[in-house]
Amino acid sequence: MKVIDAEFAKGFFRMCVDGFYQGWHERNGGNASYRIKPEEVDEVRNDFGNINGSVQDGEWQDIGTTVKNLACEFFMVTGSGKFMRNIELDPAANVCILEVDETGTKYRIVWGLTKGGRPTSELPTHLMNLEVLKNRDARFRVVYHCHPTNIIALTYVLPLDSEIFTREIWEMATECPIDFPEGIGVVPWMVCGGREIGVKTSELMKKQKIVIWAHHGAFAAGYDFDETFGLMHTVEKAAEVLVKVMSINVYKRQTIEPDQIRQLGKTFGVDIDERFLYEKRPGARIGER
Ligand SMILES: [Zn+2]
Repeated sequence: MKVIDAEFAKGFFRMCVDGFYQGWHERNGGNASYRIKPEEVDEVRNDFGNINGSVQDGEWQDIGTTVKNLACEFFMVTGSGKFMRNIELDPAANVCILEVDETGTKYRIVWGLTKGGRPTSELPTHLMNLEVLKNRDARFRVVYHCHPTNIIALTYVLPLDSEIFTREIWEMATECPIDFPEGIGVVPWMVCGGREIGVKTSELMKKQKIVIWAHHGAFAAGYDFDETFGLMHTVEKAAEVLVKVMSINVYKRQTIEPDQIRQLGKTFGVDIDERFLYEKRPGARIGER
């Protein structure tokens, strides 16, 4: 089967393009990765290495970090400097499949990037996240990074504190504590594209599946494309509501209270992390404890 006809590939392309239409991928912003299932690799293996002969001889390259637990696995990832909006027209030119070697330190491209290029500059972050997530629960396969406007806006006005960020977002939509009961991770502003920010993000991905990069964007993880995109969409929607509420007033007249969030946890059978349900002092402004 051709890669572009495989279900997993179609799901990957659709997620990227949907993100563009949400306004989360200006210029070449954002990137995505998917840890391909062995049976899906088998389905498309005969299409590897033969797209106009342009795969760079399958030469092994340094990842820039070590991901031992991903050795010999295959990944679909977006290309560095490629625009998400172009994936709709020519997925094979903007996306690639790569293989990680048996030491977990090198990769080679086996499909895609037909007009040249390299995998996303955030490859170390993606692979470190996918490794941590695999160790946590082998069903995790997708990592998605984008630049959602309202989430980014909030990183200028809310304290860069995971507990406060989570609580304020949870209060904006009933589905939030049910969808991400482990809360939101927050990484302070750092230089992107390297190992350091990858280490910091993957540290948070040990417990959480949505991590915000201050003044930059967000990372979401999930078992499949619907869940991962849906998680980002849910957090961004709640962030938009919060931006609107904060534009009207610095206080909330009423909100979803901690006991009501606990009730949600009971009703839907999810483990709500108590550290986000702190008591606020009377008269606290939005973003204050
Ligand atoms: Zn970015």
